[in-house]
Amino acid sequence: MMYRATRTMDAVEDREDKTMADEEHTGGCMCGALRYRASGAPERVGICHCETCRRNTGAPFGAFAVFARARFAVLSGETGFFQSSPESKRHFCRACGSPIYSEWSDSDEVDVTLGSLDEPERLRPSYELWTIRRQHWLPEMPELTGYERDRPD
Ligand SMILES: [Zn+2]
Ligand SMILES: [Zn+2]
Repeated sequence: MMYRATRTMDAVEDREDKTMADEEHTGGCMCGALRYRASGAPERVGICHCETCRRNTGAPFGAFAVFARARFAVLSGETGFFQSSPESKRHFCRACGSPIYSEWSDSDEVDVTLGSLDEPERLRPSYELWTIRRQHWLPEMPELTGYERDRPD
C-alpha cells in the first residue's frame, strides 16, 4: 500500500510541468454510458470528509475537481440526481449509479468526482474539508490545507 502511494505521488509530480492552459479533462461512469468533458484547468481540487460526501461516494471521503459550470459538459448518457440539500444536487449515471458531479443553485461551479476522471492522477488535491469528520486511520496529509468544516468564503 505504501509503495503504491509513493509511486502515485511521483507520477503526479512528473506530469505537473506538462499542465497547459488549454488542458482538457475527460471522464465517465463505471458502465461507460455517461461521458463528460471539462475544459481548462480546474478552479481547485480538494477532498471532503463530510458525512454527505462519504455516504454519496461510498468511500471514506469524497475527492473533487471543481470546474466552472460553463466549462463542464455531459457528452453522452443521462444523469439522475439526488437533492442532497436545498441548494445542491448530486448527479449520478442513471444506468450504473456512479457518482459523477454535484451542482449548487447558488454557485456557477460543479464538483466533479476525481475518481470518475479518465486520468485522475493529472490532478492533485490541495485542501481537505470537514477535517472534524476525518477517519482516524487516515495518514496525515500535511501538504493539504485543512478546514474543520466548509471552505471559508
Ligand atoms: Zn454508467
Ligand atoms: Zn462533503
